[in-house]
Amino acid sequence: MRLLSVIVPCFNEEENIRDFYDELCKNNDFFREKQIEFELLYVDDGSKDKTAAEVKKLHEEDGRVRLVSFSRNFGKEAAIYAGLQKCRGDLAVLMDADLQDPPSLLPEMYGYIEQGYDSVATRRVTRKGEPPVRSFFARMFYRLMNHISKTEIVDGARDYRLMTRPVVDAILSMSEYNRFTKGIFGWVGYETKWLEYENVERRKGETKWSFWKLFLYSLEGIIAFSTAPLTIASVMGVLFCMVAFGIIIVTIVRKLLFGDPTSGWPSLVCIIMMVSGVQLFCLGILGQYLSKTYMEVKRRPIYLVKEELD
Ligand code: UDP
Ligand code: MG
Repeated sequence: MRLLSVIVPCFNEEENIRDFYDELCKNNDFFREKQIEFELLYVDDGSKDKTAAEVKKLHEEDGRVRLVSFSRNFGKEAAIYAGLQKCRGDLAVLMDADLQDPPSLLPEMYGYIEQGYDSVATRRVTRKGEPPVRSFFARMFYRLMNHISKTEIVDGARDYRLMTRPVVDAILSMSEYNRFTKGIFGWVGYETKWLEYENVERRKGETKWSFWKLFLYSLEGIIAFSTAPLTIASVMGVLFCMVAFGIIIVTIVRKLLFGDPTSGWPSLVCIIMMVSGVQLFCLGILGQYLSKTYMEVKRRPIYLVKEELD
């Protein structure tokens, strides 16, 4: 018998808890055939609705359902980390509660594990049903990210991933506070098979990610997996020195040859505004890295557990 841990981070997903369980159970024949036992670990990320209560109800009916409840909302990344830490399986799979990660893909994914892959990841090839602006920025982000980071981050990659124990342990060994899981997956490496599927829309409830939240998350990703923005400061500095040097020469030559006095304080104001803008921008970049470092050195726990059902 092989134990498969299904890890589901949930934040206000009361309507989806049972649906997810039912959908997963549609694979029962497959599990039986392959001699797979599963545990279903819901990580309640500080939900304000009845998510935990729903999971408890399920737990009464089926002992394979487990619950880890956080003391407050710590974010999906923390929930993923907690799930991986608490799971006992030889295999672990991460899935969203809203059924955007179809459990019906599991047999195919498992097939690749049997072929010897260490992990099977999924990416959606379409972004059907998503606002176009969001898709556009997402594409830009992935393109930028792959330019400035050595870690491979796949466009459209989802967190839906089936992993063997060594991969789980590798991810757990990265205990950083600022967690950007898509980057962490790429960073640990291992033999990964990519499956592609069409985007499935959320079954019930609403997305927990606003555009602004996603934007901040993308900045987090860039800062966590690239130091390229820091180089911008140096490059800009050199560039501005060169421009200033050119202007000095032009001014001197003009004065000597034509004798006209350098005119205009408006231009001066513009230059001061621009240069100080650039300076603040660069300082801001530095600040971002510093703040992340600050949070990291505090060594605060990634999550706090309020309640656990086993
Ligand atoms: N989620 C979470 N904590 C959060 C936000 C989201 O655990 O702070 C969970 C959520 O319950 C869902 C998964 O992460 O199971 C994906 O969230 P969502 O479907 O809202 O994101 P989207 O699919 O729209 O990117
Ligand atoms: Mg979703």
